[in-house]
Amino acid sequence: MTSPAYDPNNIFAKILKGEIPSYRIYEDEHTVAFMDVMPQAPGHTLVLPKSASRNLLDADPTVLPHLITTVQKVAVAIQEAFEADGVYIAQFNEPAAGQTVFHLHFHIIPRHEGIALKP
Ligand code: ADP
Repeated sequence: MTSPAYDPNNIFAKILKGEIPSYRIYEDEHTVAFMDVMPQAPGHTLVLPKSASRNLLDADPTVLPHLITTVQKVAVAIQEAFEADGVYIAQFNEPAAGQTVFHLHFHIIPRHEGIALKP
C-alpha cells in the first residue's frame, strides 16, 4: 500500500513558511528544531527537514544523513539543558503508527529516571 501524497498545507509546512509561530531552538540550511506545543515532558522538541516529505517512508535518502546529525545535536543539547538521565527519540509513519502531522519529524524527549511521560 502506498502512502498519500505530501500535503503542502500541513501545520509543519506552515511553521516552516513562518505562517504559524513556533519556538525554534535550532535551524540550519536543511533542518529546523522547535518545541512541541503539547510536550510529553519538559524539553520535548521536534526536528524536521525543510524539504517536503510526509514521513520517513517517502523521504529523499540524501536528506537523511544531515537530518540524523541534527537529531543528534539537538538530543545532546537538550540532555544537557534539561539535566536528563537519557533521551527518548521517536518517529511515526502514517496514522496506524500514531502519526498526526504529515511532515517528517523526530520527537526528542529528555527523560529522567522514575518520571513517566505524559500520555
Ligand atoms: P503524535 O501526535 O501521535 O505525537 P506525530 O508524530 O505526528 O504524532 O506528532 C505530532 C506532534 O506535533 C505532536 O507531538 C503535537 O503535539 C505536535 N504539534 C502539533 N501542532 C504543533 C504546533 N503548532 N507547534 C508545535 N508542535 C505541534
